[in-house]
Amino acid sequence: MGMGARMILGWLVPVLLAAAPPRRPPVLPPLMPGESLVLAGPDREVYHFGDTASESPMGGLAHLLWVRLEGDAWASGGLEFKCTGKAGPFLCAGGKAHGRVDLPSALQAGCNLAFMGWARMSAERWMDTYGEGAARARMVDVFGPFLGKRMPDGEGLPPLSMAWFGEGDLLRTSPADLLKWLQDPGQEEVVRLYRRLMLSFYDESFKDNAWWVDAATTPAVGDPNATQAWAVGGNSLVLAVLRLPPGSTRAQALARFRTVMVGDPKKKK
Ligand SMILES: [Zn+2]
Repeated sequence: MGMGARMILGWLVPVLLAAAPPRRPPVLPPLMPGESLVLAGPDREVYHFGDTASESPMGGLAHLLWVRLEGDAWASGGLEFKCTGKAGPFLCAGGKAHGRVDLPSALQAGCNLAFMGWARMSAERWMDTYGEGAARARMVDVFGPFLGKRMPDGEGLPPLSMAWFGEGDLLRTSPADLLKWLQDPGQEEVVRLYRRLMLSFYDESFKDNAWWVDAATTPAVGDPNATQAWAVGGNSLVLAVLRLPPGSTRAQALARFRTVMVGDPKKKK
């Protein structure tokens, strides 16, 4: 186990398991320059490290919001999507063709086109069922905290372009705000469903304390040509949001989340 992992486990375990009132962790987690981390344990105490307050585009973490809106319906409907990497003018994340995906594998792969396809089907159903105004209100209800004043004008639903599924900077958040949203009792169901969907990919999913983690590459703040990456995850006790500095990728975010939060599993006793 690396020095960093030993340090974080050294304070995480007492902080998260102690029955005594929470204390400020004595040791900073092993963050790299420009990284920010916010985490909450079962006592709901929130710990901030680095710049957790500034907003940046949330990219494919928007998938979490779609799971909040339609995850139950999509999971029970057994939806599938065939991603060829391209749909009309739209390219999938990373220019990749993800092949045939269902909801868990689309989440795991970060397949933006699958989410766009399923969301457009749902949007048609909302329009038929509720009408324009109520369909719009339904979207604003979930996306509002991430839109600021940027909800496109109009009476009904906005065009569901890639801005709603992982591209551009329409949807933004900060690590602190995203964690606060995840901790809201209104999100309890989505966190549970997300955890179940993400964990279906890990061997250790049968363990009570199994970690799930999702990550996304986004445009960097102030430089649309550079990327930046986020990771969100937790186990049954902890929720955490890690943001990497400009220049980072999804793969790095996944690796850093595991290093900072989980430690090296190969070296665990
Ligand atoms: Zn795809």
